[in-house]
Amino acid sequence: MTNLMPAIFIGHGNPMNALSKNNYTEGWASISKSIPRPKAILSVSAHYYIPFCMVTSSHSPPTIHDFSGFPKELYQVDYPAPGSPELAHRVKELLKPIVVKFDESWGLDHGTWSVLKHVFPEADIPVVQLSIDETQPTMFHYEMGNRLMSLREEGILIIGSGNIVHNLAAYNWNNKDIPPFDWAMRFEKYVREMLIKGDVTSLINYQNFGDDAILSVPNPDHYLPFIYILGLRKEMEKVSFPVQGVDGGSVSMLAVQIG
Ligand code: ZN
Repeated sequence: MTNLMPAIFIGHGNPMNALSKNNYTEGWASISKSIPRPKAILSVSAHYYIPFCMVTSSHSPPTIHDFSGFPKELYQVDYPAPGSPELAHRVKELLKPIVVKFDESWGLDHGTWSVLKHVFPEADIPVVQLSIDETQPTMFHYEMGNRLMSLREEGILIIGSGNIVHNLAAYNWNNKDIPPFDWAMRFEKYVREMLIKGDVTSLINYQNFGDDAILSVPNPDHYLPFIYILGLRKEMEKVSFPVQGVDGGSVSMLAVQIG
């Protein structure tokens, strides 16, 4: 167990966090100091949500500015980490018989770079992204995480980047410090409790939590990266929450570290 790399879900929230220094980004920065230096990083980002399983395979993945309406500085951010065709091949192999295609055109989207810019600012660790196949049920994504378990023994850091509560319709862009909505707090608390209890079934069938779940996860794209990290947890392995808080009332910034 001692050689097992942690697996971490990070709530990325507003893309502007890439340029900010706040409690969240300081929490992200401290993560790299508490874990072994990874050989490479596999990122499962909410923003690579497509109807196929794909893995980025280029030697130098471009920094993708996949948003609109943000200040010019955000479009100038570059995260020039190398890719790792070797890791892409390993991921494809481990996920068999699921068909995973190589993607030479996608690079690093803001779900990945807005966070990694703080965790590993030197951008000197190779990064590969694995897509989330939007046509598949939640259980499929849990099993994908399971199949990638051995990467943790190989010094690969797997990051899921999304948000456990992500409701942009309710998000307060003008006042990010407003108190969280009650439904957001209740759903986040439920997720923490189920994690501590090891109740994987309830986390996969999160819709059973009712209206609070519907409001917190109006679209599964930001929740599913968490399910990959859940799939990477050995039975009752240690879980911790290195970053906490709710931004703009409706975006949970909770980070979940396994191991
Ligand atoms: Zn996002």
